[in-house]
Amino acid sequence: MGKLSGKYAVVTGGGQGIGRAIVEAYLKEDIAGLVIIDYNVEVANKTKVEIDPDGRITVVSCDISSRESVETAFQEVFKVLPQVDILVNNAGITRDAMLHKMKYEDFARVLHTNLFGGFSCTQMVAPGMRERNYGKIVFIGSINSYGQIGQSNYAASKAGILGLAKSNAKELAKHNVTVNVIEPGYIKTDMLKTVPEKIISTWLDLIPMHRMADPSELAPVAVFLASDDSSFVTGNVIRVCGGAKM
Ligand code: NDP
Repeated sequence: MGKLSGKYAVVTGGGQGIGRAIVEAYLKEDIAGLVIIDYNVEVANKTKVEIDPDGRITVVSCDISSRESVETAFQEVFKVLPQVDILVNNAGITRDAMLHKMKYEDFARVLHTNLFGGFSCTQMVAPGMRERNYGKIVFIGSINSYGQIGQSNYAASKAGILGLAKSNAKELAKHNVTVNVIEPGYIKTDMLKTVPEKIISTWLDLIPMHRMADPSELAPVAVFLASDDSSFVTGNVIRVCGGAKM
């Protein structure tokens, strides 16, 4: 019996990258049912075909930056799953630029996706978790939440996630709902494809392990935080970053 046997999960942005690795790990731990909420339905459906021979995954189209879209998506979620025991707020974007060049729209878009999106999805599942006295919420933050050149919007959104998650953890603790944050370092996904080699190489100099990680190296931490192994772990930040100090 796997660590997530009998449980139901929602993973946002689960169609590719880190989200996909988490979905695969949850399937291996015998999750009973799982909804991938993703903007990119084409890639999410391809993932489903590749990794889900026994039909435990449902893909629901959603733009988490829109409150209306999140509400509609969770109506679908609750038609497919009897309950949501685990929520992974993973979907996120970058729109990097130096402060003097950053467009207001790009600042807003990143905040609305990374921070407001996580807030909206959490609000959809928290009432049920409170009622059932059980829940596991995992936010994917970033080691860049403490500030990074060219990432005023992204760093602000990820720093916001820390305050959001820690507040949610305090509010929900008495209902046996844990809320934690994983802060990845640099992980080999499409998100980093637009970052120039020169920048990546300066980042690698700051990582004692001097390499980027594969998404599968982060997934076991997301299993831990979704399983009863972490029953007394809440309001915490776990970094998966090869020792980076940033
Ligand atoms: P990817 O871009 O590989 O995957 C993210 C997925 O989320 C994509 O399918 C994307 O769709 C989807 N998505 C984007 N915006 C929305 C939206 N508004 N609504 C619904 N789905 C959306 O990203 P990663 O796997 O690299 O990143 C996952 C998380 O990890 C993010 O929160 C990111 O900030 C964080 N992170 C990543 C790091 C890294 O090095 N990769 C480092 C630190 C943190 P589409 O393809 O259409 O954009």
